[in-house]
Amino acid sequence: MKYDVCIIGAGITGAMTARKLAKYNVSVCVLEAAGDVAMGATKANSAIVHAGFDAECGTLKAALNVKGCAMMPAETKELDVPYKQCGSLVCAYSDAEIAHLEQLYARGCENGVPDMRIVGGDELRAMEPNISPDAVAALWAPTAGIVCPYELCIAACENAVINGVQFKTNFRVTNITKENGTFAVTDGNEIVYADYLVNAAGVHSDEIAVLAGETDFPMHVIPRRGEYMLLDRSEGKMANHVLFSCPSANGKGILVSPTVDGNLILGPTAKAIDDKDDTATTTDGLMEVQNGARHLVPTVNTRAVITQFSGVRPTPVYADGDITKSDFCIRISETVPGLLHLAGIESPGLASSPATGEYAVELLAKMGLSLTEKSSYTPGRPKKIRFRELSDEERAEVIKQNPLYGKIICRCETVTEGEIVDAIHRPLGARDLDMVKRRTRAGMGRCGSGFCSPRTVEILARELGVPMDTITKCGGNSVILNGGKK
Ligand SMILES: Cc1cc2nc3c(=O)[nH]c(=O)nc-3n(C[C@H](O)[C@H](O)[C@H](O)COP(=O)(O)OP(=O)(O)OC[C@H]3O[C@@H](n4cnc5c(N)ncnc54)[C@H](O)[C@@H]3O)c2cc1C
Repeated sequence: MKYDVCIIGAGITGAMTARKLAKYNVSVCVLEAAGDVAMGATKANSAIVHAGFDAECGTLKAALNVKGCAMMPAETKELDVPYKQCGSLVCAYSDAEIAHLEQLYARGCENGVPDMRIVGGDELRAMEPNISPDAVAALWAPTAGIVCPYELCIAACENAVINGVQFKTNFRVTNITKENGTFAVTDGNEIVYADYLVNAAGVHSDEIAVLAGETDFPMHVIPRRGEYMLLDRSEGKMANHVLFSCPSANGKGILVSPTVDGNLILGPTAKAIDDKDDTATTTDGLMEVQNGARHLVPTVNTRAVITQFSGVRPTPVYADGDITKSDFCIRISETVPGLLHLAGIESPGLASSPATGEYAVELLAKMGLSLTEKSSYTPGRPKKIRFRELSDEERAEVIKQNPLYGKIICRCETVTEGEIVDAIHRPLGARDLDMVKRRTRAGMGRCGSGFCSPRTVEILARELGVPMDTITKCGGNSVILNGGKK
């Protein structure tokens, strides 16, 4: 099948580009190597919509971050994704760190971040009662926020699907050729043809550039892993805002932040690794997370950890050494006509994503893609019931409409059978346990899915019309009921 545009990678960058393109009369196909969308850096990050004072002035990172942050409230509202503009505090512990806050403040002003100010120790403690007594000041940025990154990505993809975008998961691009102006992109089994190709392949974006025919791509990706601890909801109130220490050469350092779901997240580390897909956690990494979090909030109870995970940053390293050395590698290919790179999108790639998607569409138009608006475009996605958040009256009403909303499957997160059935039948519907988990939170609680996973397996098998022993945890060979087979 031939499309106008083919996007490689269904992380938040590819997803937002697909969503923004879906407004126009163009055919679009998104190819994703994993079995679901949002499985790369987009799945495992700090979930912060940064205000935009961190990026170097004059970079695309700075411009897209500030614009993306400003767009996020409306974007999440349209997509029915929980968003909290809680603001962020960069905490200083010494005069030298206060001087650093002043630099960040000046940079933020130049980048166009609104309403920042430096608060003193007393005001900081009033805002954050659990902050370290040694913290003496902080940079307050009220426009920063928190969002669930994979929910935002799934929502953007669902929106793209209902507006006609095709998604092919389990499609790992292994070869790209170009004949008579048309790209032929294959995973070895199937070929997708397109006039324009968008490289949004995250840590693998430098490899995709080479596959697509770039002979002199100016950047390569260094994978840098960040490890996290996620604490139970009982700890969620330990921080009211996103709390950072002063940044170092290694980045923004360990943060402590509430999540939109009421948990507390601690992390990340920043370690260069060899394997781009190595998302292991380590004892050393988690000790660093724990110590870094205690520096900010000494009384944080890390025994309330419910899970630990890591994500890999696609850190771009440029050969030319100019300002772009710390910037996203967003550029129209100079050697392969029709190829657009959205490559090396490390932090703040999530915060920037709505603006990045819009910018990608602008660049495609500049490359010659003809864009006329679709009269049938719809900005949202099918309504999602979140039973846990409903009042008693609202619960009674939805149960009256569908009694499956009256059956609680995940006790920790109060997720009902109705929500799981919905998740299976939505656009890009759930096919395995982890897909259900990311779409409903069933299994995200403190029991680690011990109680709900057998029930969820039954529901998946029933709704998909397949035997229970074919249901997997996360695709591939991860079957759950294998009859004792080794
Ligand atoms: C530890 C950490 C903390 C972070 N914290 C924040 C934060 O708080 N705020 C913020 O704004 N940003 C943050 N980021 C950055 C943010 O997560 C990324 O910028 C963003 O997720 C990048 O999205 P992406 O779509 O470009 O890449 P990805 O999400 O990695 O998506 C790329 C996709 O391409 C697919 N792919 C790769 N190769 C192929 C192939 N050959 N064929 C088909 N598909 C392929 C992958 O499977 C993947 O799904 C953080 C990142 C990390 C790792």
